[in-house]
Amino acid sequence: MMRQYELVEKVLAYDPQADEALLNKAYIYGYKKHGTQKRASGDPYFSHPIEVAAILADLKLDSTVVATGLLHDTIEDTDATREEIDQLFGEDIGSLVDGLTKISKINLISREVAQSENLRRLFFAISKDIRVLLVKLADRVHNMRTIMHVKPEKRQRIAQETMDFYAPLAGRMGIHFFREELEDICFQVLNSEARDIILKRLQEMHAEESDLLKDIAEVLNKKLKQAGISARVYGREKRPYSIFRKMERQSISLEKISDIFAFRIITNTEDDCYRALGLVHTEWPMVPERFKDFISIPKSNDYRSIHTTIIGPSRKRIELQIRTEEMHEINEFGIASHALYKEDIYISNPENSPMPGDDSNDKKNKKRKVGSVPVSGKSSAFKWLRHVIESLEDGDTPEEFLEHTKLELFADQAFCFTPKGRLIALPKHATPIDFAYAVHTDIGNTCVGCKINGIASPLRSKLDNGDEVEIVTSKGSKPKVMWENYVVTGKAKSAIRRANKEERQAQYSQLGREMLNRIFKKLKIEYSDEKLSAALPKLALKTIDDVFVAIARSEIKLKDVAIAMVPMLLENNDVEFMHDQTHFEIGASNKTTPMPIRGVSKDIGAIRFSKKHPPIAGERIVGILKPGEGLVVYPIHSEELAAFESTPELWIDLVWDKDVNEKQWFTAPVEITLLNEVGALSRIATIIAEQGCNIWNSYIIAKEVDYHHLYMEIEVRNIQHFNTLKSSLKTLPIINDIRRVAGKKFGEIDL
Ligand code: MN
Repeated sequence: MMRQYELVEKVLAYDPQADEALLNKAYIYGYKKHGTQKRASGDPYFSHPIEVAAILADLKLDSTVVATGLLHDTIEDTDATREEIDQLFGEDIGSLVDGLTKISKINLISREVAQSENLRRLFFAISKDIRVLLVKLADRVHNMRTIMHVKPEKRQRIAQETMDFYAPLAGRMGIHFFREELEDICFQVLNSEARDIILKRLQEMHAEESDLLKDIAEVLNKKLKQAGISARVYGREKRPYSIFRKMERQSISLEKISDIFAFRIITNTEDDCYRALGLVHTEWPMVPERFKDFISIPKSNDYRSIHTTIIGPSRKRIELQIRTEEMHEINEFGIASHALYKEDIYISNPENSPMPGDDSNDKKNKKRKVGSVPVSGKSSAFKWLRHVIESLEDGDTPEEFLEHTKLELFADQAFCFTPKGRLIALPKHATPIDFAYAVHTDIGNTCVGCKINGIASPLRSKLDNGDEVEIVTSKGSKPKVMWENYVVTGKAKSAIRRANKEERQAQYSQLGREMLNRIFKKLKIEYSDEKLSAALPKLALKTIDDVFVAIARSEIKLKDVAIAMVPMLLENNDVEFMHDQTHFEIGASNKTTPMPIRGVSKDIGAIRFSKKHPPIAGERIVGILKPGEGLVVYPIHSEELAAFESTPELWIDLVWDKDVNEKQWFTAPVEITLLNEVGALSRIATIIAEQGCNIWNSYIIAKEVDYHHLYMEIEVRNIQHFNTLKSSLKTLPIINDIRRVAGKKFGEIDL
């Protein structure tokens, strides 16, 4: 058990102005109150608050926080009262101990609703004063250090709770000092076998390579010294749990993990960080994709460092982390490194905290040499906490809150914000489409574009932590089938699937109705829904819509439907049930929503355009009714049609809807043979632009000495537009030939 004077000395070592009397008073009070209470280990109970206080001193926190550590269990476990604490130690400490008492019984591993409610309570307590969280985490660290004395079942539960909530929360707050220890102990409790295997392998690797590692450190030190950069270098081994997580995440074996050893170069100034970086990159080859500069762009928990990997001495891959002493402190202690400054620790009322550069900060800043330490206003961890708390106040349901917060605690999340500052928690690699659905299903269903941090961006962009996302919607717009491939959240996936299914059913239904109507017109018999309803039992279908859908999906023959409706047709063998003699216009019905031939293009709807030979408005087209797939529209010249020559019953002659929207674009894949001349490409591009066409895609498919073969996907309004473009291109002497070809890599250009 740590003695009273040892604790006081420990605090005085980093904070000479610490309140010695307060620490002594708290020590004696706690000692008396806990009296003869015992821990599960058999140790006197008071050994626990002392250790908690000592852990807080490891974080170099002030005497108030350390004293709170000594007192944290007094109200909960002894006859001490809030009033008494207030009287003896002041209201500041009183409210901290009170906050800790309130959350002492919070159980985060329980039934969903209770769990979310508990998490809310935890965040509310933290939101009053971040120091409550620091003491709570120190409390948890010590409880985990002594977890082996607890009964196995309870041990498992506490370890799981710590792994799921407290360790990620510590990480999110940037306190890696806590996170790593918590994770390691939990790993030991929850999966000791895996941990043992990793530890054994680490020992072997260490034995094999320790000389080499020492050499590398020496070489690095020498080079830095020669260059006049003052820095210290030390090797660092990854923790078993972080190795395990990497193995899991990338599903690779232990043998394949190469970056188990890393070296840290700790400099005095930011400038020296970059000089050291320049030095190592000049001395040894770097591995390009491994370079990351978290100094210029800090991580969302305020982590700052340069990461790079070099092929170092003895051709060994070496991971390097370069940072200053101050950065190092923040990387280890996170928000705890700000907590000495009272004005930085109240997060409920950010308006009250002084602005950076405020004179009142100066004295304290000098004391702690915090030149590069971000003040609370700039700390992303604080911002995050503030947003979480705002979402609490926005009155999210407990389930929503749990879902958001639990997800957000994990490092692999992207927290994004609406322009109004509402926090939207998404998994990593989420897209603006996920974001839109997370805000509201209607926003998702009608989204057409987005701005990320004020810049118009594609809907398939990957979102990063802290992105502000503005979704552009258009009334009546529908989700695209392709979106399903870009989204990662279940909510977006199922909503897109649902919306597309409804849309597809509606298209099928409309198509089937058109087809049936046409046949009746041809037979000169009046069609009515009543007749069809009456025939439903014969067709073994429930609704007339079901019949239309079945017709359009070619799952039922038109002839059979007609005969079921008008039995006398059976006697008339001359009736021709084929559609190919009648033109029928898609979308020409008097329905309020005409069949959107353009809207379904490229998609897998009831009606879609051929991907290989996309038709252009105005040219002759034909539809092939593919069983179970719906109608695929081809230009009449498409060689794909040959495959259907023997099945004329699947052919449907189509004409373009009169209403084809003037604003529609149609894609024409073309191959251009052009002279291999300087500037040829730009002349082609100029003509295409002059004709008001867009280039979707373009690449050289073959090169000869004199000629290049260029593949292009050009967007045009209609076939006349295309023909005009073709003629103007042909006037260019550099163009030898231009012709429409089958589309290549068509799926790539959707959305
Ligand atoms: Mn405790």
